[in-house]
Amino acid sequence: MKTVGIYVHLPFCEQKCYYCDFVSFAKCSEQEKETYLQALAQEAKIYQRFLVGITGKSLYLGGGTPTCLTAKQLGQLFTILSDFFKLPTGIEITVEANPGTLNREKLQVLRKVGCNRLSLGVQSFSVHDLQVLGRIHSPRDVYNTYQLARQVGFANISLDLMYGLPGQSLLGWRDNLKKAVELEPEHLALYQLNIEQGTPFAKLVQNGLLEEFSQDKAFLMYKETSDFLQVHGYRHYEISNFALPGKEAIHNSLYWLNEEYLGLGVGAAGYVQGIRYVNTADLDVYQALLRQGQLPQAVKEPIKQELAMAETMFLGLRLLKGVSKEKFLKKYGITIENKYGDVLEKLKRQGLLQETATHVALTKEGLPIANLVFQEFL
Ligand code: SF4
Repeated sequence: MKTVGIYVHLPFCEQKCYYCDFVSFAKCSEQEKETYLQALAQEAKIYQRFLVGITGKSLYLGGGTPTCLTAKQLGQLFTILSDFFKLPTGIEITVEANPGTLNREKLQVLRKVGCNRLSLGVQSFSVHDLQVLGRIHSPRDVYNTYQLARQVGFANISLDLMYGLPGQSLLGWRDNLKKAVELEPEHLALYQLNIEQGTPFAKLVQNGLLEEFSQDKAFLMYKETSDFLQVHGYRHYEISNFALPGKEAIHNSLYWLNEEYLGLGVGAAGYVQGIRYVNTADLDVYQALLRQGQLPQAVKEPIKQELAMAETMFLGLRLLKGVSKEKFLKKYGITIENKYGDVLEKLKRQGLLQETATHVALTKEGLPIANLVFQEFL
């Protein structure tokens, strides 16, 4: 029996946001969504055959916008998942949702099937920012959805916000943070906007119509965020994530701890039995392969110990408490010091890494330039 986190990708969105490079498709018909659910069922069935008795450690429905499904389709999805996997009562079950795509009926279905955590894509409380990003919702939708979710019984809500938006001032970002905290969510995930290749934003930058955000200003926003949220009782536990005590994301923590997880759906990634894979991002190919009874994996890489150790370091360093020396030794049979002694010394000299008796972690100075630190382990 395999106990793993399970990620399910639902690639539907009402419209494509201007910055988005996720695998998601706008304006799909109900029939297309039904067909997709059938393909997911087929994929789950194949994994269930390979890995007999899969039990969910956590379940995460991401996207896309899972809540673009109707209440009936959400119910169907959970029937499929519980037909093929054991989902013990009380495990963390998260659903990503966008304000404006939820109603009481959908929320009630989600609660009924055991969903106990909502991750709400707010991004900003400013009408202007939301329009610039191409989001479908208004700040009013955020408040309405949030209140409805509380009424229906969601006691664990995470809000996603983005900083470094075109034209965003420090004052504007502070105002967003203040409004987010006033809602008293259990968790906050805060990301800097990245301009990704192939998006409308990238085209604007190429044509000189949009300036890339100043990194100095973004650092300042990041630093203020951490200080502000800690004053308001949130623990900064991962580079981009903050939580009230005991409300850290269980599913996402599996990624940072480099544990295995099953990924289902178009474009989904997984890590099972020492193999990392990424499914095709082509919806037609994904569905066609599953109709033929084949897994839709486009990339499949066995992770050898050398790479697994490096991944454990750079994923684990995303956590502010850092990488556990004891767990590293237990997993790989070598100490972090013996494996990475020179790298650790160099990064400590640069003030980017710190070491305690039990952990190796980023320093405050290392946090905003974590990607540079991570490269040292590759
Ligand atoms: S809602 Fe999310 S997944 Fe959908 S287009 Fe916008 S950013 Fe992309």
